[in-house]
Amino acid sequence: MADLVAHGLVTSKDAESLDAVAARYAVAVTPTMLGLIDRADPQDPIRAQFVPTMRELQQSPEESADPIDDAAFSPLPGLVHRYADRVLLKVVSVCPVYCRFCFRREMVGPGGEALVGENLDQALAYIRARPEIFEVILTGGDPFMLSPRRARELTQAIAAIEHVKIVRWHTRVPVVAPERVSDDFVQALCAKGVTTWVAVHANHPREFTPAAQAAITRMREVGISLVSQSVLLRGVNDRLDVLQDLMRGFVALGVKPYYLHHPDLAPGTGHFRLPIAEGQELMRGLRRTLTGLAQPTYVLDVPGGAFKAPLDPSYLQVSEGGLQLLDGTGHWHDYKG
Ligand SMILES: *Cc1c(COP(=O)(O)O)cnc(C)c1O
Ligand code: SF4
Repeated sequence: MADLVAHGLVTSKDAESLDAVAARYAVAVTPTMLGLIDRADPQDPIRAQFVPTMRELQQSPEESADPIDDAAFSPLPGLVHRYADRVLLKVVSVCPVYCRFCFRREMVGPGGEALVGENLDQALAYIRARPEIFEVILTGGDPFMLSPRRARELTQAIAAIEHVKIVRWHTRVPVVAPERVSDDFVQALCAKGVTTWVAVHANHPREFTPAAQAAITRMREVGISLVSQSVLLRGVNDRLDVLQDLMRGFVALGVKPYYLHHPDLAPGTGHFRLPIAEGQELMRGLRRTLTGLAQPTYVLDVPGGAFKAPLDPSYLQVSEGGLQLLDGTGHWHDYKG
């Protein structure tokens, strides 16, 4: 908290009460993100993502420490197996920043366990024993916090499993700490026998700094396939113009927009959530105005962990005469087929 006071983002008076927030949820902001915050704007969208507020202590009954119930689908420490053909490995608990809306906010932070030693061996044995597992998804925390050496060992261990064809890393590092994405690190993500995908998490077009653009370009240059991941957040990107710039920003860098997540019911995050109907209206706006390349799928992880439900608005209605389809200007067209 002292750091945030020193950077003029929190007053020393507020710091005392915010210590209660920091005691519960980890706090960290990287120099790259600090440099983007407009100190004069209390509503700054970058500030809103990383600087803690007292609103985080307001918890509502529907919120939960494990909103998508990873625990119920976790047969081994650090491994979540919800869908038959893919498993998720939580390789580290730390992140370079701690997003105030994080759905794993009760689990992430310094002092958590990394997936190493016997736990890692067991996780790899679990994957090896199940030929239906086609894809291994690396998450955390943020798996780009690994050293190049450990990233390389992990990639190679997974690549050595015959039936695994895809290694997918989910990370916020390329935008928040782009200097970590060195040539050495990028090489460590690739191995013979698997195809590497990286899902880059960014929520606001200002996050595409020149350094972030260079980090993403380094990954593209070695042939890594890139998709995006964003969270739809009140006060950050809940405007059509911001979402347009964000999605265009991804596409311009060769990153295919993949998911726009509706915020999960993580504790103390109510101020970030907006009605799903409003999210659908924004999605209609994107469909009307942006290239097809820039369209993400709007999704909600259903509480309880059953599945990721697509929330995209419908462009189709069934009528007596057949079907009707909605165009970008709001007109319905009959389809008889
Ligand atoms: C979201 C999620 C995935 C990945 O889902 P995709 O739709 O393939 O991106 C995999 N496993 C778990 C446990 C998840 O929550
Ligand atoms: S980087 Fe990802 S895991 Fe880490 S705090 Fe942000 S949303 Fe959570």
